[in-house]
Amino acid sequence: MIMIQGKGVSKGVEKGPLYFFQRPDTTIVKTTVTDVEAEKARLAAAQAASMEQLEVLAEKCREEAGDEAAVLFETHAMFVEDEDFVECMTSVMEEESCNAEYAVEQAGEQFAAMFAAMDDAYMQARAADIKDVARRILDNLMGVVAGGIDSDVPVILAADDLAPSETLQLDKSKILAFVTQGGSGNSHTAILARTMGIPAVCGAGDALKQDYNGRTAYIDGETGELFLDPDEITLTGLKEKREKQIEMKKLLETMKGQEDVTLDGKKMMLYCNIGSPEDVAAVQNNDGQGIGLFRSEFLYLAASDYPTEDEQFEAYKQVAAAMNGKRVVIRTLDIGADKQVDYFDMKKEENPAMGVRAIRICLNRPEVFRTQLRALYRASAYGKVAIMFPMITSVWEVKECKRACAKVMAELDDEGIPYNKDTELGIMIETPASVFVADALAKEVDFFSVGTNDLTQYTLACDRQANDLGKFFDPHHPAVLRALKMATDAAHKAGIWIGICGELGADISLLPTFLAIGIDELSVSPTSVLPLRAEIRKSIAKTCTLEKLEC
Ligand code: PEP
Ligand code: MG
Repeated sequence: MIMIQGKGVSKGVEKGPLYFFQRPDTTIVKTTVTDVEAEKARLAAAQAASMEQLEVLAEKCREEAGDEAAVLFETHAMFVEDEDFVECMTSVMEEESCNAEYAVEQAGEQFAAMFAAMDDAYMQARAADIKDVARRILDNLMGVVAGGIDSDVPVILAADDLAPSETLQLDKSKILAFVTQGGSGNSHTAILARTMGIPAVCGAGDALKQDYNGRTAYIDGETGELFLDPDEITLTGLKEKREKQIEMKKLLETMKGQEDVTLDGKKMMLYCNIGSPEDVAAVQNNDGQGIGLFRSEFLYLAASDYPTEDEQFEAYKQVAAAMNGKRVVIRTLDIGADKQVDYFDMKKEENPAMGVRAIRICLNRPEVFRTQLRALYRASAYGKVAIMFPMITSVWEVKECKRACAKVMAELDDEGIPYNKDTELGIMIETPASVFVADALAKEVDFFSVGTNDLTQYTLACDRQANDLGKFFDPHHPAVLRALKMATDAAHKAGIWIGICGELGADISLLPTFLAIGIDELSVSPTSVLPLRAEIRKSIAKTCTLEKLEC
């Protein structure tokens, strides 16, 4: 038996073949070829494969979302065969005696620039489509597997580490569990695994070897163990644990439809964190009472270019409408640090967690911010949308955000576009600075939501991405809990509500502390809702104490 010990970051026991993630090398190098005809044939084959994929996608889209939604893929198919585009690719190969990859890249860039320079906004938006089409042809030329997993059966995905953008682009239907050599429980990849309810282990180190590719493995996302060829005793233990898991799930089913209230009547709003409209199904399956954090940046991370106002509007509207009047807190773009997006062309920073990230990017790039705010306000006409700003440190930032919102609302008024004028505005409390000036901030907004992942990082000066800080990274530290209390007192004094949307919110051992502090809302991964509800309904708020705030 081989046992690899990592850190369990998303609970659950699974069994399946280990599959090592192949990071595709997509750098395009120009090479001189002697046989241009052979390159043309490679290009033709890649075009044919692209057409086939686009037909399947259009068909799937037509079945699931109707004819209108399928138009995008039909348009892409037209581009693949567009005479001028094909002519351009062919002439680059002929004139420069070069490889097909280089020709596709060149033609894609030329056509995208041509569309972007047009006067008509609709045509300008086609620049992103042509880039997408060129990328698809290139992937087919270079043998890049769509969804990253070349397997017919679901797998336990192994990797050195996974960036959030890589995780987002994986075909989730093929993943039973994750195991990574590096990474930490607070990384966005671990957070995504929890949101998807997939067991995950990180920090497995060098013991996780490429040689194990294809072997059947057993993973325990609670203990952080990964087994190959487990002995009888281990196997029995894992089976029992899995059965208990299924049993527990059944038991928790009885919590559906029940109120989130303690025995002495203290209500808690139990909401969910999501990263995309697809996650709403999990929110509904787990009876989440709202969405306390929609990480909108995942839309940007999954795209190859800036998502347009319409694309964002559709995503936000879909979530708002599906939640049917329940609150949906959408956080504005929070990129930077571990969430890097190539097309933002950000300068490399020595210390990106303390660099130009989150709200700082939006305030520095008003056009990017405006596009998102317009999409958010437009979506507010279709449900109970609330807007939340991340990484706030100063009152002036909030005032600037509010000015940007007012400007967008005035534009929509002029254009006669409906939106909710009373859309709630809130901020994340993720920095010690925001805790210290929470009284002033509370006067500016409708709610606070504490991002304990970052608040812990910045309060304790511990990198949340590092997996070797051990006991120094302690979200239970009295300083973090006292910060929570200070922010809560300031919120309540100003008459606004406060929640926690960081991972700490799902920590059942801290529920009595949250009740004693007076937290109004917990926003957690969908699978954490029912266990928390069961605990809340057993609790007596009046008897909860602040003892964990003592040093
Ligand atoms: C947090 O920092 O706690 C939070 C919820 O935001 P993110 O994890 O996306 O940085
Ligand atoms: Mg954060």
